[in-house]
Amino acid sequence: MAKKKSPKRRIRFDRIAMIVIPVLLIAIGVLLIISLFSGNKGKTKPSPEPTAETTPEPAATPTPEPTPEPTTDPETDSRFFDTDSYLIIANKKHKLPDGYVPADLAYPEVDMRYNNWTMRWDAAVALEEMFAAAAEEDVHLVMGSGYRGEDFQKVLYDGYVAEGGQSYADSISSRPGYSDHQTGLATDLCGQDSDYDLTQDFENTKEGKWLAANAHKYGFIMRYPKGKEDITGYAYEPWHFRYITKEEAQKLHDAGENMTFEEFYGLSGGDYAE
Ligand SMILES: [Zn+2]
Repeated sequence: MAKKKSPKRRIRFDRIAMIVIPVLLIAIGVLLIISLFSGNKGKTKPSPEPTAETTPEPAATPTPEPTPEPTTDPETDSRFFDTDSYLIIANKKHKLPDGYVPADLAYPEVDMRYNNWTMRWDAAVALEEMFAAAAEEDVHLVMGSGYRGEDFQKVLYDGYVAEGGQSYADSISSRPGYSDHQTGLATDLCGQDSDYDLTQDFENTKEGKWLAANAHKYGFIMRYPKGKEDITGYAYEPWHFRYITKEEAQKLHDAGENMTFEEFYGLSGGDYAE
């Protein structure tokens, strides 16, 4: 009974073998192909073109430009401190050298009041030119002040102190050594009507209006404009003009209305340090 079963089993085995073996062979073949394929892939992967990636980046960002512009500090710029410079500064933060007297003072040939005033040569020439130009437009200017030496300023200042105390004197005059007038480049200008001399009403006179509009063409700036007391250290003085050369006066004029010397050149101003 059991023997009958064996041939059937052998046949079955043969049949199974005939099916299974080729399948296995095919499977092995497929696996070999896959392994070869993936093997090739694996071989190309680890070398991701190292030469191409490492070489093209030698420019590894060279310092983020730390150069802070070679601008010179105005407070040490010789333009504002050389005694020959037409931009020499005198204000309540900047005292002139002790005993400074300009070397090239001259008498401008213009109408004068109160004294026989001088200015530095170039400023005197420019002043004459400005007076002549104004006269052609029927505006007749009068020179009310020019160069004032340190001694003169001391007499003036001490007089104001005696009259109303130091704070009063500081509000209307300069201490000796600090006056724009000691540069020989400043002038107080008047009109023919002396009622307006050195008063803020001068701005409403024919002469005051002409100067406000034209002085820069001759190298002069209004040194103490309206509303800039905290910057210049002085109340509005529509009569006080300062020579700085035509080129510089034009630049300052173009920089905006009521531009101050201190703002334009970046210099400190305002009240006395002490
Ligand atoms: Zn003045």
